Amino acid sequence: MSSQRVVVVGTGAGGLCATAFLAKQGIEVIALERSTHVGGLLNPYLREGYLFDPGVHYLGQCGPGQAMDRLLDALYDPIFHGRLPEKPSMFISANSLKDPTGQMAPRGKTSLEVVTLAPYSIFGAWANVPAEERGEDFHLLKDRLRDQLLEQLDARLPGVVDHVEVMDFSTPLAMEGWVNAIDGGLYGPAMTPNQSMFFRFPSSTFLPNLFLAGAGVFGDGVLPCMQSGQVAAKMVERTFSKARGASLS
Ligand SMILES: Cc1cc2nc3c(=O)[nH]c(=O)nc-3n(C[C@H](O)[C@H](O)[C@H](O)COP(=O)(O)OP(=O)(O)OC[C@H]3O[C@@H](n4cnc5c(N)ncnc54)[C@H](O)[C@@H]3O)c2cc1C
Repeated sequence: MSSQRVVVVGTGAGGLCATAFLAKQGIEVIALERSTHVGGLLNPYLREGYLFDPGVHYLGQCGPGQAMDRLLDALYDPIFHGRLPEKPSMFISANSLKDPTGQMAPRGKTSLEVVTLAPYSIFGAWANVPAEERGEDFHLLKDRLRDQLLEQLDARLPGVVDHVEVMDFSTPLAMEGWVNAIDGGLYGPAMTPNQSMFFRFPSSTFLPNLFLAGAGVFGDGVLPCMQSGQVAAKMVERTFSKARGASLS
């Protein structure tokens, strides 16, 4: 066992993966997490018998030139200008139907996740206000957005809203409070052209023993985050073997 130690800060998919790879190599590693659970966005939570699993509902890629790629500019345009689209686009996913263990919803019931885009700026006034102190205006705005989303959902899946038994509605402020997400972005730092691909944060930093993992490195999604953790772990190992080589010579 080496006398060198590694500290991983944050235990999202990236941080956990880095920790696991380092431990596997016999390196002494400690992972620090500010919340009570490891896993960051991978943590589901219970609401009256329903397991809400917001962090993963689909694993896949949208290649350049494919339909999603072409749609994104149109979708993001109002958001970049601080407005909510009149008819927000929605990503609808029936998580419990994909769970072979059947534990995400009570028998005979289904959980539905609906995600849409919203500009952070409309919530900015409450950014530094604790959740329980945000007051009536915040809750009125939240209710209005929720109703708007439900209206759109009902237009696309008629009647579904009447069958909702338990609902949880979150804004970007929840993401900020939950995992320290910058401006509440659920996919890490904004995926703008100058922050994507090679222009995102590198795994190694200007500080010699500080490495990065997570959505800021290769991009969002469980798989890229895990890969960034593996790369960070490899960099740490390389740093250690160089240091060992230097001390032997
Ligand atoms: C609604 C939603 C749907 C999604 N759907 C999918 C999907 O279908 N497929 C997919 O692949 N991906 C999906 N994602 C994205 C995916 O969940 C994330 O990209 C990925 O889990 C992020 O991992 P991460 O390593 O960046 O860390 P995070 O999950 O962001 O975790 C970071 C951790 O670090 C901790 N932390 C932050 N600051 C500090 C600090 N200063 N000190 C100590 N700890 C700190 C946080 O508390 C947290 O535990 C979705 C995300 C959301 C929100």
